Amino acid sequence: MEGKEEHAIGIDLGTTYSCVAVWQHGRVEIIPNEQGNRTTPSYVAFTDSESLVGDGAINQVARNPTNTVFDAKRLIGRRFSDTCVQNDMKLWPFKVIEGSSDKPMIVVHHMGQEKQYTAEDISSMVLGKMRETAEAYIGKTVKNAVVTVPAYFNNSQREATKHASATAGLNVIHMINEPTAAAIAYGLDKKAGWYNNRNVMIFDLGDGTLDVSLLSINTSGVFEVKATVGDTHLGGGDFDSKMVNFCVEEFKRKHNVDLSGNSKALRRLRHACEKAKRRLSYATVTDIEIECLHQGTDFFVSFTRAKFEELNKGFFIKCIEPVVKCLKDAKMDISSVHDVVLAGGSSRIPKVQQLLQDLFKGKQLCKSVNPDEAVAYGAAIQAAALSGNENGMLQGFALLDVTPLSLGVETQGCNVMYVVIPRNTRIPTTMKRSITTLYDYQTAISTPIFEGESPTTLENNFLADFVICNIPPAPKGVAGYYICFDIDADGILCISAENKFTGEKQGCTIISTNKIKQEEFKKSKRKLDRRELSKINQEENVTSKIKCKATETSKRTLDGRVKHAR
Ligand code: ADP
Ligand code: MG
Repeated sequence: MEGKEEHAIGIDLGTTYSCVAVWQHGRVEIIPNEQGNRTTPSYVAFTDSESLVGDGAINQVARNPTNTVFDAKRLIGRRFSDTCVQNDMKLWPFKVIEGSSDKPMIVVHHMGQEKQYTAEDISSMVLGKMRETAEAYIGKTVKNAVVTVPAYFNNSQREATKHASATAGLNVIHMINEPTAAAIAYGLDKKAGWYNNRNVMIFDLGDGTLDVSLLSINTSGVFEVKATVGDTHLGGGDFDSKMVNFCVEEFKRKHNVDLSGNSKALRRLRHACEKAKRRLSYATVTDIEIECLHQGTDFFVSFTRAKFEELNKGFFIKCIEPVVKCLKDAKMDISSVHDVVLAGGSSRIPKVQQLLQDLFKGKQLCKSVNPDEAVAYGAAIQAAALSGNENGMLQGFALLDVTPLSLGVETQGCNVMYVVIPRNTRIPTTMKRSITTLYDYQTAISTPIFEGESPTTLENNFLADFVICNIPPAPKGVAGYYICFDIDADGILCISAENKFTGEKQGCTIISTNKIKQEEFKKSKRKLDRRELSKINQEENVTSKIKCKATETSKRTLDGRVKHAR
């Protein structure tokens, strides 16, 4: 029978490294790329004659720094004007400019021409590479995949990742959170020996993100995420930056020259610092030595682990904050956590492990799953379970996940956030908010949709304006509607309206990444009368916002054995 069924793969699309795995021959196999490496750099390079993805791209980075793109995951689904995008840009050797709708565009020279790419384009090239890697290994075309995202990714980042996967020719059968995938990997590994339910904390510290999740796993293999907290901007890359800054200062002190304007030197320095950082996880001192770093001058420094820890003290303490918050959200204390599982390359740092262990009063941390591969491993299990090509070996396995950010509407007439779906609600889910007209004979109601935890919408992330139109003329307060929030199993939000009295449904808005700037939105709101705004939105709505029918969210049919339990 094996060989006939379609393979579904698991892909961990990482900030720096990506990993692909498949369930084959009764177990998960991590798929090596054509260079034999089990992880592939999430790098894309453009030259005059070709484009390169993965190892090929990273290997030529020193020669071609301005046309070698990485960190697309730090850009995906974000606005150009986001503070973190503005900050990141300062460190990148490639150019990013503002495109239409505040979208960041990456500018490179390719085949003798200037070209612009979105972060989705770059991610889809990496995903395409992972698909090809899998196809070469399996010996068949591969379409179906489970793709992972950081638990803290917001709606637009998830949408953009899904879009990138589709462009790469992949059908995303499920998008799951990285820590959940790591827990699946860990859970399967340990399942045989479990007789009681276990609460497992996943601490995933990668290059660009930190995700902390608390899951409960029962003996029959049900994984339930209790809480998930994270920092989309904390990881190994930040530790590298601290080292680079230190070295730039060292160079200035020793040679009286500032190399901070030399992008090639900075790139080489960063590369050397990253390697040194890895060595410092095992050694207490290491050398950084670079020939002809700047203006023919060599650079040498002896770096101690103590120095590394001192430079990054603030970041390391920041790594513990989400852990405390996650416990609080899950209403658990440290004594109810059975296992603390390390994932992500940066979880190998001894100081991080020590702080974590101290918090858990000396508890042994679980290191049994390779931190670089755990996420792809878990994704492959979920892929096999959903596509049913695991020959019944994963019977009973089910996944219960939660939404990471609160979703809600702005209360009519003021900037107060009214939460419709609270953070950590189990998904898929549907929740409603009732609304009515504020004026006599109002024919449209415009409702701004936000995500975030602040009580004021001014500090939350604006997603879209949802407009109910064609309201029959009536005195104010007579019309009655529900705004229905549906989050599907991939964590993607769809909003529709339902007439309270007739039950009739109006168009559904899939929140897309193509949004107006939040600043512009706030300005326009101040300038315009509410009724005028409704009118404008009504017109816009007709052309661009209604994308599908309200019933489409109930589309997912899963294999009979593996259901998302509700
Ligand atoms: P991501 O998922 O964000 O791409 P990974 O989980 O692949 O990240 O982790 C990559 C990060 O882990 C990089 O910053 C890398 O330098 C760091 N890393 C890998 N190995 C080690 C190590 N031995 N010690 C410290 N950091 C490491
Ligand atoms: Mg990762």
